[in-house]
Amino acid sequence: MHARNKELILKELQSIVGEKNATAAKHICYAYSYDLSFVKPKLPDFVVMASKVEQIQEILRFANKERIPVVPYTAGTNIGGLTIPERGGIILDLKRMNKIIEIDPEALVAVIEPGVSHAQLAAALAPYNLRFGWPVGPPSASVASCAISHGIGGMNARYGLQSQEITSMEVVIPTGEVIRAGSCAINPEAWHSVLPMPQLDGLFKGWLGTTGIVTKLGINVHHSPPLLKIFTVCCDTVEDMYSYMLNLSNYEICDDLTGVSWWLAQVPIPYPYKPKPDKDPEWFSYATTYSFTQKEREAKEEIWNLVLNQEKNKGTSIKETHYPEEALKARTQLPSQIVGSTKNYCKQGGAGISWPGTFTPAKKWAPVYRKWKEILISHNLSPSVRMSMYRGVHYGMLRAMIPFNKQSEKETENARQAIVECLRVDLDMGGMPYKPPVDFAMEINKRAHPGYLMLLKKIKQLLDPNDIMNPGKLGI
Ligand SMILES: Cc1cc2nc3c(=O)[nH]c(=O)nc-3n(C[C@H](O)[C@H](O)[C@H](O)COP(=O)(O)OP(=O)(O)OC[C@H]3O[C@@H](n4cnc5c(N)ncnc54)[C@H](O)[C@@H]3O)c2cc1C
Repeated sequence: MHARNKELILKELQSIVGEKNATAAKHICYAYSYDLSFVKPKLPDFVVMASKVEQIQEILRFANKERIPVVPYTAGTNIGGLTIPERGGIILDLKRMNKIIEIDPEALVAVIEPGVSHAQLAAALAPYNLRFGWPVGPPSASVASCAISHGIGGMNARYGLQSQEITSMEVVIPTGEVIRAGSCAINPEAWHSVLPMPQLDGLFKGWLGTTGIVTKLGINVHHSPPLLKIFTVCCDTVEDMYSYMLNLSNYEICDDLTGVSWWLAQVPIPYPYKPKPDKDPEWFSYATTYSFTQKEREAKEEIWNLVLNQEKNKGTSIKETHYPEEALKARTQLPSQIVGSTKNYCKQGGAGISWPGTFTPAKKWAPVYRKWKEILISHNLSPSVRMSMYRGVHYGMLRAMIPFNKQSEKETENARQAIVECLRVDLDMGGMPYKPPVDFAMEINKRAHPGYLMLLKKIKQLLDPNDIMNPGKLGI
């Protein structure tokens, strides 16, 4: 960008948000140019921190007129390069918009601004004995960003994805107009449901910040029953773990039903690859259950015992095991010593971490894992894999958390190649990547139905005629 031009643009941005809240300073732009992932850093030209909807409108109108890219940003922890500005321009950091507008403990709805973090919401819900599904990501990350990106948390076996908890939203579209989707579109006080109207919220969920900026979000929150019991098992093969998880999920008693490979159970995840000791099981699982009464809890325990015995009688290697207390706590509570701390994931690796994160039919978990294990070990990386059931149905998350040495270009490229190879295997078996970096988006689009791509392009063109919103991320 021409220096004179840059100065004028900065002045205009400062006139909108105040001098202190818009900058082109190199060291600040540098801090927004990279994330933990294998995606190559790219510098923005400006970093702007808005605090009001009207400011976002003004910024987008101006950016549209001048054809300047705008990348919405909250904490940059998505580990897919999703806030790395492909074409420079403005990083619009929304952290200052961090008001919890309302918590309605009767309607079980909270209305939040995009900068509200998981830690902040957890603290605000606690006095009402309410909860949301906390992800195992950093507690400083935004609840809204996670929800609109189809993120997952600790209640996904019961309530599904964070995006399925969305009840209403307010958005500034790239041309600067404010729109609303869900009940708040009809009555500004009503934030309880996106149904039964056309689901316009879908235009902003899973789009990676390429169609608009969410400025208010309604989400369902849930009671926190007093009796928590987490059932833990281990076994020797992925097939045995799949069989147990499938069986248990049929009874729909779990808020979270997750299996993790030996490598993911280590703190930190081994980097480079380290063989598992022969005597250790290869898979561990936790099944989180909540009950309101002792009798309800006993009934759940009875079901779990039934499943455990059925699996043993089938001749699988499933057996009960014990997790450390802190690890159990980490599955349901914030803060935690174990999860959310990126150093626990990648301190050995030199600060890099990426994932092939997918929604995959459960019956494909075992064959995909076996292939992933081969690929990852051949790249000297740990097969640190997680499988989680979604909404009591037989599909769910299959992902590998891959630490690597980000200080080394060669090791970063090695991780990228391994992860993209893993992703191809999963796509070929019917899986779908979530929060996809551009490399993944290209792989998805190669396989996409032409009608899907055509509609995607038409919608993008309609909402963002000058392609200013996080351009390049959809790989189209
Ligand atoms: C160790 C580790 C573990 C993790 N575990 C999980 C996990 O269990 N579950 C999970 O879901 N995620 C997990 N993550 C990923 C990450 O924490 C989540 O994706 C997080 O929700 C992203 O929030 P953020 O505030 O960092 O968003 P950012 O990275 O800042 O943004 C994410 C995307 O949303 C867009 N965006 C941001 N704000 C807006 C807005 N207001 N309007 C429109 N678009 C917007 C951005 O442009 C970008 O495309 C993990 C990450 C790490 C490092």
